[in-house]
Amino acid sequence: MCISTEFLAEAVYLSVDPYMRAYSSKLKPGDTFLGSQVAKIIESKNPKFPVGQHIVGYFGWRTHTISDGGTTTFGNAPMIVPNIGTLPLSLALGVLGMTGNTAYFGFLEICTPRVGETVVISTAAGAVGSHVGQIAKIKGCKVIGVTGSDEKGKWLVNELGFDHFINYKTDDLDKALSECAPEGVDCYFDNVGGDISSIIMRHMNNFGRISVCGAASTYNEKEAKASTIQRSMISFNLKMEGFLVQRWNDRWNEGIQQNLKWIKQGKLKYRETVTEGFENMFEAFTDMLQGGNVGKVIVKV
Ligand code: NDP
Repeated sequence: MCISTEFLAEAVYLSVDPYMRAYSSKLKPGDTFLGSQVAKIIESKNPKFPVGQHIVGYFGWRTHTISDGGTTTFGNAPMIVPNIGTLPLSLALGVLGMTGNTAYFGFLEICTPRVGETVVISTAAGAVGSHVGQIAKIKGCKVIGVTGSDEKGKWLVNELGFDHFINYKTDDLDKALSECAPEGVDCYFDNVGGDISSIIMRHMNNFGRISVCGAASTYNEKEAKASTIQRSMISFNLKMEGFLVQRWNDRWNEGIQQNLKWIKQGKLKYRETVTEGFENMFEAFTDMLQGGNVGKVIVKV
């Protein structure tokens, strides 16, 4: 039963994201696991959130939530799902939501790509990486995706228009980069950190830009360590900048609308790895951490 300005929301799709691994170490037994979801309002005393409306809420891993429309323990206040026509609502968690804006702002604002430049992306077949590569193509760049399987790499090249892929599990990354990008790398969109990033940074051109989005290879480590990247940074006059996408909260709708426009123009494609059943959240999460996904990972309740 809702009181005053409260509403009751029922989860429809839950988002599964790598950042959950990093944050999970702070949780205690009995805490609700964090995360966002698309939910439908099924009861409401709040005129801003009427019954039947779909919202994106940071409610954690739960099927039903009572909210007053304010911020939650996990993040932003619930947002109304923008009008995306006949496209699937789950996209509000991916290409038309947080991961889409991560790709849009994190790449364009930090890498500032120019026509003809060479861009390398790690975890390139994931939700963010596959999106960044397509924006880089739209901007006239040469794009190389680093990923963990040939199947994912073929999708990047054959369907998304990447110029090359490198399988970091089976290829010699250093040698493959020399072959694919003899001209050097101007922009690196880093989703992974660790050894993969160290090798890529040795191929950067003078005044190259590195957008540090994620650190999937280090999320199990307790403490951050300055690695041995300083030599590359000095030698090539590199600029490296980390970000949280919430930095662009005041421009959120700009990212959504531009990504929606590119989808409608056929310039931006997406894939989702969808698992059915709320009870399978954990399996979907661990599968993603082992590279089992292509594109955005979603659980359909
Ligand atoms: P992905 O869809 O890319 O899924 C994770 C992928 O990471 C896996 O499919 C796997 O791909 C790869 N991976 C996992 N472990 C390792 C490892 N040890 N070494 C190398 N690769 C690994 O996730 P997202 O697109 O949702 O997110 C990409 C990155 O962006 C994440 O690090 C995430 O935390 C970060 N992020 C940051 C935000 C910000 O505001 N800064 C916002 C949103 C996301 P493969 O098979 O290719 O190895």
